[in-house]
Amino acid sequence: MTESPLWHPFTQHALQPESIHISHAQGSYLYDKDGRQIIDAISSWWVNIHGHNHPKITAAIQAQAEKLDQVIFAGFTHAPAEQLAEKLIALTPNHLTRVFLSDSGSTAVEVALKMALGYWAHKNQPRTIIVALENAYHGDTFGAMSVGGRSVFNAPYEPFLFNVHHLPFPAKNHEHRTIENFEKLLREQGDNIVALIVEPLVLGAAGMLMYTPQLLAQLHALCQKYGVIFIADEVMTGWGRTGTRFACDQAQITPDILCTSKGLTSGSLPLAATLASEEIYQAFFSTDRAKTFFHSSSYTGNPLACAAACAAFDIWDTEPVTQRIKTLSDNLAAQIPRLSSRPDIENVRQTGCILAMDVRNAHHGYLSDIAPKLYRFFLSQGVLLRPLGNTIYILPPYCTTNEDIHVIINTIIGGCDALGNGALERAA
Ligand SMILES: *Cc1c(COP(=O)(O)O)cnc(C)c1O
Repeated sequence: MTESPLWHPFTQHALQPESIHISHAQGSYLYDKDGRQIIDAISSWWVNIHGHNHPKITAAIQAQAEKLDQVIFAGFTHAPAEQLAEKLIALTPNHLTRVFLSDSGSTAVEVALKMALGYWAHKNQPRTIIVALENAYHGDTFGAMSVGGRSVFNAPYEPFLFNVHHLPFPAKNHEHRTIENFEKLLREQGDNIVALIVEPLVLGAAGMLMYTPQLLAQLHALCQKYGVIFIADEVMTGWGRTGTRFACDQAQITPDILCTSKGLTSGSLPLAATLASEEIYQAFFSTDRAKTFFHSSSYTGNPLACAAACAAFDIWDTEPVTQRIKTLSDNLAAQIPRLSSRPDIENVRQTGCILAMDVRNAHHGYLSDIAPKLYRFFLSQGVLLRPLGNTIYILPPYCTTNEDIHVIINTIIGGCDALGNGALERAA
C-alpha cells in the first residue's frame, strides 16, 4: 500500500500513520469504507448540530449549485448571502447590525480583532492592549493564536505572537480574581484597551472549562463601563451548544462583536460570520478610501455555503430543535451521577449539550498519554471521542438518541476500566 501524501491537522503521523477512511455519514453516525458504524460523539470537531447529511441542507446546496456557484463578493452580492445576513441580525435586534462573512472560526476571529483595532485607529484614538482569558483558544492563525493561551499548540511560534493581557481563568470560587485583575487593568490602562475577547461560558480546546453566566455578565458590564469593545467568540458555543442559541443569551448580554462559524452551516460547508455593532461599522464608513475594511478571502460569501447556512437556519424554525436540545441536555444530565460516583473520574461538568469530565490522577495537559490510548479504545468500540489531555467530553449532534448516549457513556466507563486494570497498556 502506498502512503497517503495527506498531512492531517493535529495529527502526529509518526504515531498515527493511518487515518480512518469515511465513506458516508447519516444523522449522528459516520460509516467507514467497510460499512462499520461509528457514533460521532463530538459532532465532527464541534461543527455538526442537526445531524450529518440533513436532507434539507443537502437539497439547499444542490439547488444553489445549479444557480450560482461563486461570485466575487466585493461589489457583488446574491440572495443566499442577503437572506443569511437578515436572519443573523434578526437574532440580536437593534444591536448587531452588520455581518462580515469569512470561511472559518479563525478568520472570524481575525476579522473581529481587525475590526476592533481599526475602530480605534479610525477614531484617531489608537489603542494597543487586547485582553483575553488564560487558556483560551480562538483558532490557529497568528492573530487567533496570539489571543489564545500559550501552550504546546503554539510554542514554536510564540516569539512571533503579539502580546496579550490574559486574565486568570474564572474557575469556580475564584471568579473574584478574574474580575479584580480586569478592574485593575481597566483603572490603570483603560484608555489603551482595544477589546476583551472571550469564549462565553465554555473554553473548548482548553478542556471544556466552564464558568458562570454571572461572571460573563460582569465582564461585559466592565467593558461597557470603561468603553472597551466586548468580543464574543461563539464559534464553538453558538447554535444551541450551551443550551441557548448563543451562550451570551444566558448572561442576557449582547457583545459588540460576535464570531460564529462551526454550527452555522450545521457542519456541512465552511462558513463564518463576524457580526458587528453599528458603532463599529460607522468608524469605517467614510468617503475616505483609506478607512475601507481591508479584509477578504477569495471565497468570502460563497453562495453554496450561505445557502447551506440558510437551510440550517430554517431547520430551527421548522423542526423541534429547541426541544431536541433540551432532551439531549436532560439525557446527558441523567448520566452525571453514574460518572461522578466513580473514583477515577472527577470534575464532571455540563453546560447544555456539552458533558465533560477529567480522568483523576492522570498526567494533565494536552500531551497526556492517556488521550491517544482512550481515543483508540473508544474507536474500537465504535464511538468517536477525542479526549483533550485527561479530559473526556461528549459534544454530540442534537439528533443523538438516549440509546446512543448510553452507548457513549458505557464506552467511556469501559475505557476508564481498561485504563485502571492496565488493559490499555497491554493493547498499546
Ligand atoms: C474551533 C474554534 C475556533 C477556530 O475555528 P476554525 O474553524 O477551526 O478556524 C475559534 N474559536 C473557538 C472558540 C473555537 O472553538
